[in-house]
Amino acid sequence: MSNLDNLYREIIMEHYKNPRNHGLVDNSDYKSNRIKNPSCGDDITIQTLVEDGKIKDIKQEATGCSISVASASVLTEIMIGKTVEEAKEIVNAYLNMVTDKEYNQTIDLEEASVFSGVKKFPARIKCASIAWVAFKDTLE
Ligand code: ZN
Repeated sequence: MSNLDNLYREIIMEHYKNPRNHGLVDNSDYKSNRIKNPSCGDDITIQTLVEDGKIKDIKQEATGCSISVASASVLTEIMIGKTVEEAKEIVNAYLNMVTDKEYNQTIDLEEASVFSGVKKFPARIKCASIAWVAFKDTLE
């Protein structure tokens, strides 16, 4: 295992232990979406608050494996403050990256690039994707 893989694993474990923007709000201004991944027990809810075309806030509640919980946490950190258009571009690039498809490398995935390694583990791809798919749906 390379040093980069070790660093990525440390970042993932840090987000797993200290998930950012955790805890849902009871506010109908947020668009909410929940996705479960029965194959490993992941259960993720994402709530997105959009104002004036910008992502003002995101809340998440994720239970399951370290990859799914950490990917929900990283997502919230990256997306808050982005425009909806920027967020959609980042989501598409990210989902293509984890499924080992071509993606626009000029898009900065920031800390989400730590999940690039999951493409080598087909069983974990869904774990790394569900928070992002759930988030994408809240933007529609
Ligand atoms: Zn999982």
